[in-house]
Amino acid sequence: MNSPAGEGAGMKTLNWINGKWTGADDGSTFAVRNPASLEEIARVPDCGAAEARRALDAAAAAFPAWAALPALDRANILFHVYAQMLSQARELAALLTAENGKPIKEALAEVQYAADFVRWSAEEARRVYGETIPAAVAGKRHLVLKQPLGVVAAITPWNFPSAMITRKVAPALAAGCTVVIKPAEQTPLSALALAELFAEAKLPPGVLNVITGNPEPIAKEMLAHPKVRKIAFTGSTEVGKLLMRGAADGLKRVSLELGGHAPFIVFADADLDKAADGCIANKFRNAGQTCICANRVYVQQEVHDAFAKKLAERASALVVGDGNDEKTQVGPLIDAQGLKKVVEHVEDARQRGAKVLCGGNVKNLRWFEPTVLTGVAPESRILHEETFGPVAPVVPFKTEEEVVRLANDTPYGLAAYFYTKDVSRLFRVAEALEYGIVGANDPSPGVPQAPFGGMKESGMGREGGKWGLEEYVEVKHVSIGI
Ligand code: NAP
Repeated sequence: MNSPAGEGAGMKTLNWINGKWTGADDGSTFAVRNPASLEEIARVPDCGAAEARRALDAAAAAFPAWAALPALDRANILFHVYAQMLSQARELAALLTAENGKPIKEALAEVQYAADFVRWSAEEARRVYGETIPAAVAGKRHLVLKQPLGVVAAITPWNFPSAMITRKVAPALAAGCTVVIKPAEQTPLSALALAELFAEAKLPPGVLNVITGNPEPIAKEMLAHPKVRKIAFTGSTEVGKLLMRGAADGLKRVSLELGGHAPFIVFADADLDKAADGCIANKFRNAGQTCICANRVYVQQEVHDAFAKKLAERASALVVGDGNDEKTQVGPLIDAQGLKKVVEHVEDARQRGAKVLCGGNVKNLRWFEPTVLTGVAPESRILHEETFGPVAPVVPFKTEEEVVRLANDTPYGLAAYFYTKDVSRLFRVAEALEYGIVGANDPSPGVPQAPFGGMKESGMGREGGKWGLEEYVEVKHVSIGI
């Protein structure tokens, strides 16, 4: 990552629009802060409608030539970016930890995960196959072509500053689309660093554009621009709904990866140690700030106390600290608002009678102690709203039927987990859970080759695998008389 004059060492702080590093038209900027120290680490352009329109126009102008490029040529650029992401993984991870706060080991894992989407998409670029369909009459032939959609406008959140971008940008570029992306205001630096790698890979101007700034006017331009054919969004359900409403006027395609409220179910026949390890890995990753992390832990009555004890022992042993420290397992929460929500959920559960087995308190500035609660009343907010923090409420259940009902009793449907050694139950429960992703004896189901996405109010569309690429193609029937 080279740094031209006027920029922080190793850090891109300008926007990447139409192949040029640019600031806001009026020169305004906003601060990016390290959540661990609250220190300002950079300032990035505070752009709005005019800059967004320029970026979208550039993406529209770049589209015909990019779409016409042989798939192998597009793939080669992606392979180059993949290799660079791996060779610069340390620097990219350090940047990610600086702006997001997650432990450096997790940041490195995210860079690898993000890079894997680039490689997967590069490999798949050459396999966007069409089809032929047998005709019903002798004088006809039917072809099905898959063609790139057009300009894609993407908006991403702060909790996976790198992976949420490559999960959209890589399949879109592989398919032949061009992209304008607006990263979250807390974590724009990883997005700009990725843009730099694409620039170094000689991606033609306008094919990828990164704009930072005020989300509302930027999104408004994205929704209004006639050449934008798709809105790809990861973030809250609330904003997802706004974007879907806005996309209706232009009948733009949407893919929405939204909030979740994952149940984590432990049956009495499960290996309790494996389940407890899995629950820790799942629940406390990124300090509980992941859309697929457990928000409710249901444990069958006969093993409830034993499991809660194991979980609390493991949670209280987690190392809480600055993400830059290699030993840290739980970093700070992203901001004061995020911390406030976690405090409120724990306080609400306590007031309704919950017992705190471990943690339960704010620990210095932005950290919240890894927390395990039991005796949580059914109406507690934590059992219904996304907490986005390191708190595991453990709730007992009696039967499989009861826990499936409890698990599905939510407007969300992103990810669900359960542990059992009973193979018949494994199939029954996996099929009964109304979730887009199910981890059965597996706390980390996300891989680039599989579909990732939610049911119900957790969104629509899928990222990853062949499904992720199909989101960026149009299917065309060509009927030929011969
Ligand atoms: P958010 O408030 O919805 O923000 C996400 C993105 O939307 C940011 O870039 C934000 O910009 C932008 N945004 C905010 N208001 C907007 C508006 N009115 N119009 C257009 N864009 C707008 O979500 P968040 O709190 O940052 O992220 C956490 C949420 O994302 C959680 O609910 C989590 O579950 C979800 N998430 C889902 C997945 C998944 O794959 N399903 C993955 C990760 C996260 P600014 O940053 O500039 O405000």
